[in-house]
Amino acid sequence: MQKKIRHNATFYAIKSSHRPVSGTMARIDFLGTGNAFSPKGRFHALAIIDKCISIDAPPTLIYQLRNASINPGSINNILFTHWHADHTFGFPFILLERKYLQRNKKNNLNIYLRPNGKNFLTNLCKIGFPGSLEDSFDKLVNWNESENSQIMGTDWKFNRFPVCHTPETDPHGYELIHKNGFVLLHCGDSGPCEEIELRSKNADVIILEMGMPDIGNFPYHHTPADIISFTQKFPDKLVLVTHNYATSKSKEGEFKIPKLPKSIHQLEDGDFLNISDDGTFKICSI
Ligand SMILES: [Zn+2]
Repeated sequence: MQKKIRHNATFYAIKSSHRPVSGTMARIDFLGTGNAFSPKGRFHALAIIDKCISIDAPPTLIYQLRNASINPGSINNILFTHWHADHTFGFPFILLERKYLQRNKKNNLNIYLRPNGKNFLTNLCKIGFPGSLEDSFDKLVNWNESENSQIMGTDWKFNRFPVCHTPETDPHGYELIHKNGFVLLHCGDSGPCEEIELRSKNADVIILEMGMPDIGNFPYHHTPADIISFTQKFPDKLVLVTHNYATSKSKEGEFKIPKLPKSIHQLEDGDFLNISDDGTFKICSI
């Protein structure tokens, strides 16, 4: 992997066989990079793809979108990784916004989720806004429980795969494949796991969630030591770390950001991955 620093961006040359061939450009915005405790300088983790797909719906999703000048109504697809609150509690707000502020919107919100997820999300809406959203569950939302699917109205499709996290949350990750072959592996909230390693061989960029520091053994979370041992197995891959337990680089807080090898990029809120049509991708910071 070649790497050069220019201004505020880090450039990586794609070495995989998935070099985009023409006209492709995609962008992944990391509007939050913190774990469930929202360390100083970090909102809860999520990834926004091409301003129309959200991986998970953290509690402050609406605020995070508006803060980045992204209209919440442009999010037409949400892919859920698991049922922890920091990944899901924004859903009632998104549906409320859709019902009342996006009344003229013609297309439905597409939700990609595991079986029984509809029950979880609609209960959340009933608790949060009783009497307000029941009529919208089937009128404004398409519920897609497929394990593999095209993402509606986009250049992306996905394969969902099981990961290693609190079993009660039905945890999964997403292998996201652009029509030009670029593969982004979003591993959800997970500890080290064979399924992630199997799929990493075929990925161009891998997103790992690092929810815990090196203070014990946490099979359901990646720690810095786990991330280092992962990158030793995949030295040519770009690894992006999010869902970080540590305070943001620019703040003082309880958990200092860990020192990790240079091939690992610990994301900060506002960073984005730009995939351009000349076969390169870069991480940019605002
Ligand atoms: Zn979780």
